[in-house]
Amino acid sequence: MVDLYTLSEAELGDLLVGWGEKRFRARQIRAWLYERGAMSFDGMTDLSKALRERLAAETTLGSLEVVTEQASRDGTVKRLLRLHDGQLVESVLMPYRDGRRTACISSQAGCAMACVFCATGQMGFARHLTSTEIYEQALRFSQELTLRGERLSNVVLMGMGEPFHNYEAVLEAIRRLMGELGIGARHITVSTVGLVPMIRRFAEEGLQVTLAVSLHEVDDTARSALMPINRRWPVAELLAACKDYTDASGRRVSFEWALIAGRNDDDATADRLGRALAGIPCHVNLIPLNPTGGYDGAPTEVPQAERFIEVLARHGVPATVRVRRGIDIDAGCGQLKSKVLARRTPAAGPQA
Ligand code: SAH
Repeated sequence: MVDLYTLSEAELGDLLVGWGEKRFRARQIRAWLYERGAMSFDGMTDLSKALRERLAAETTLGSLEVVTEQASRDGTVKRLLRLHDGQLVESVLMPYRDGRRTACISSQAGCAMACVFCATGQMGFARHLTSTEIYEQALRFSQELTLRGERLSNVVLMGMGEPFHNYEAVLEAIRRLMGELGIGARHITVSTVGLVPMIRRFAEEGLQVTLAVSLHEVDDTARSALMPINRRWPVAELLAACKDYTDASGRRVSFEWALIAGRNDDDATADRLGRALAGIPCHVNLIPLNPTGGYDGAPTEVPQAERFIEVLARHGVPATVRVRRGIDIDAGCGQLKSKVLARRTPAAGPQA
């Protein structure tokens, strides 16, 4: 059975012509799926009943199966999805008061980057997602929102996995988000641990996608202890690539900083960070650490987070504390999967 979500318009046209149908039916079907929120063929009333039945019998729509779904009091919806081979990934939808509807999607099952504080990093790497598996996570939210008269407005690649370790598939998924779901490049964010050659390659794509870089420390020894990737591409090289990305894209870079009490949240660290970022058009997103099973750090309290912002401001570096969404439903990276696995196999650790 062919998954229609994997077909381009031309490929779907070929399939339909092979069935004796008109080629333009491909455009009609894709409009139903990608613009009108259809999740089955039943409602595609401008197609003949025979065509709808044949589509239902010989094709599928997507491959992701929702295993569990949790809704938070703030409206955040977090789902655990099973891929065709049993791998599990997470995706999250976050509604905001200003009308934005942001999907956070995964690019890999597990992750090879091994950041010590990250639930996904603690699981290890299972496999890359295909571009369709990445795209379908956002598509599903988009379809559900469309049926409620709402619209998916933003997508962040901040779920499980390192997007730039799965570069081609991620780029293809981004192109489909833009082309098929009508989400502007500026409303798409790719978050990376800092794979410098891929940041440089991404700059050459000429897209205005927002680049988010997980920094967390600005001193090489300290950063390497949290993020092993830093031994390969140290801070100075990373920041130089970020600066070049801002020149190429005309966009500010977002730096992610998990605030860990007593580790990277003191005034002196904020001051070093401010000095390092001065001259790079950027914004710092401070995220109080989400505690995870495999790391015994604690989140910074509000007053110290505010001091951190103040010190950065002295260097002209804007920073905000990211509102923690869905914190009551384990909506931190990899946390829902960790919990489900722990519940199923109480004796095992958080291994994927
Ligand atoms: N691999 C990519 C994208 C996924 S993680 C990256 O690292 O950028 C999205 C963000 O959540 C990253 O900034 C990551 O460092 C951060 N993060 C992961 N675990 C966290 C935790 N326990 N607490 C706070 N932030 C965390």
